[in-house]
Amino acid sequence: MDSQFTAGPSPDDRAGRDSTAGDVPGPWSPASGAERASLPFDVIIAGCGPTGAMLAAELRLHDVRVLVLEKETEPKSFVRIVGLHIRSLELMAMRGLLDRVLPHGRRRPAGGFFAAIPKPAPEGLDSAYAYLLGIPQPVVERFLEEHATALGAQVRRGCAVAGFEQDDEGVTVELADGEQLRSRYLVGCDGGRSTVRKLLGVGFPGEPSRNDTLMGEMHVGVPPEEIAAKVAEINETHRPFWLRPFGGGVYSVVVPAAEVGDRAKPPTLEDFQQQLRAVAGTDFGVHSPRWLSRFGDATRLAERYRVGRVLLAGDAAHIHPPIGGQGLNLGVQDAFNLGWKLAAQIRGWAPDTLLDTYQAERRPVAEDVLDNTRAQTELLSSEPGAQAVRRLLTELMDFDEVNRHLIEKITAIGVRYDFGEGPDLLGRRLRDIDVKQGRLYDLLHRGRGLLLDRTERLTAGGWSDRVDHLADPTAALDAPCVLLRPDGHVAWIGDDQRDLDDHLSRWFGRPAD
Ligand SMILES: Cc1cc2nc3c(=O)[nH]c(=O)nc-3n(C[C@H](O)[C@H](O)[C@H](O)COP(=O)(O)OP(=O)(O)OC[C@H]3O[C@@H](n4cnc5c(N)ncnc54)[C@H](O)[C@@H]3O)c2cc1C
Repeated sequence: MDSQFTAGPSPDDRAGRDSTAGDVPGPWSPASGAERASLPFDVIIAGCGPTGAMLAAELRLHDVRVLVLEKETEPKSFVRIVGLHIRSLELMAMRGLLDRVLPHGRRRPAGGFFAAIPKPAPEGLDSAYAYLLGIPQPVVERFLEEHATALGAQVRRGCAVAGFEQDDEGVTVELADGEQLRSRYLVGCDGGRSTVRKLLGVGFPGEPSRNDTLMGEMHVGVPPEEIAAKVAEINETHRPFWLRPFGGGVYSVVVPAAEVGDRAKPPTLEDFQQQLRAVAGTDFGVHSPRWLSRFGDATRLAERYRVGRVLLAGDAAHIHPPIGGQGLNLGVQDAFNLGWKLAAQIRGWAPDTLLDTYQAERRPVAEDVLDNTRAQTELLSSEPGAQAVRRLLTELMDFDEVNRHLIEKITAIGVRYDFGEGPDLLGRRLRDIDVKQGRLYDLLHRGRGLLLDRTERLTAGGWSDRVDHLADPTAALDAPCVLLRPDGHVAWIGDDQRDLDDHLSRWFGRPAD
């Protein structure tokens, strides 16, 4: 048999349909058409941060009618993140976004992020994208929002979700100005102080912020060499503390705050000057700020990610200190996990428990990130005991396995979902590999399942409207055949058609008639 790639219809193939008006049921949704048509939207997302925008795009790949409500009238300009870690770069590659994003960032080595211990990454990390992309958060957000709207998501700015009620058919969402909107599901991607989570009554246990940090961009009044020398001296004992040149005489300034403050109230330039003097003995002549903010080190995890028709994702479900740069990455990965499952539910082919696997898979990942940021925070303390543990860990990281383990944690390529007994690859994401058609991830742009089949005798049969089939005996794969979910995780490994059919049912529901 020749190598073949068989793919079902894409949203593009169905172009010309108005995705926001009463929708015609697609090929997957025999049971859902009437229910869907009775409500103007399938999903309302509260919050157009990186999580909300990524979720909107993922849902649109499956023709789900999405409205994103964002309380801010303009996109944010705060530059928060250090960058996108490996798994997030892989997600971008899987949806054809990476090539567009790359020119806007700077590739940096993947190592050195665990508690800022300066160890290079070990050789041969298991990814085709084994680097960190330094890129400002507003740029990532802009790309994701543009991607979502290009796929047909509606984004309404200046609309704050203020209340909601759910019933058997859907959710009525109330905006701050009293307007009411209906949809079948609501997802709170509205950040750490999530209104949706609070209204849902979901607990958010954990530790409050013990230390706040001031962060902003401003001009300085002393020469760069003087700043660099002083920062190096202070970093011997104080972290986080930095002044990094941003171009045009502007510096990014981070300095510990005097006390835990009101997050809703931005700090003043005087607060920065006072804290710089307290920590460094000089305020570096800072003036003319572009923006000023503060963040804390609170660590909290939502007790549940779903109550009926309302779900939580991203910072709305988990918060932790920014050390290691994992928050945005974690949120977009939540969205990637949730998108195809919620779409399946709406399109009418989801197996009964599929939507619940979102919490079952993602909450333990967040728990692990919270724990590693707790550990990193301790390692940054200037207490002698913590400094001794830091020195010891620095030595241990000379062992390849230790270093690799920590990097796989921070970059999220070590995530393995519990799909039951099976080979180590089961439940893990598959790296981008060479296949006859080119690159594996290029075949995942449409967010469908994929049967990657080296035996050339298996078939996705009745699921071909949800799962593509690539028969390729030359694929660089250490298994006869794998079934990939739309998020690129390995759902099955084997060579037996009946066993495969069972797993296709488990993840992709009943076969089409
Ligand atoms: C200093 C700092 C550095 C960081 N560095 C990194 C890093 O290097 N890497 C990394 O991965 N992460 C980093 N993070 C974390 C990252 O910024 C967050 O995890 C990320 O922004 C979470 O995305 P989100 O979409 O879940 O929430 P948010 O970005 O908070 O977006 C939520 C959105 O919801 C909107 N909203 C809120 N309430 C409502 C409402 N009622 N109705 C409608 N809209 C609403 C908000 O306006 C906002 O646009 C850092 C954070 C800080 C503070």
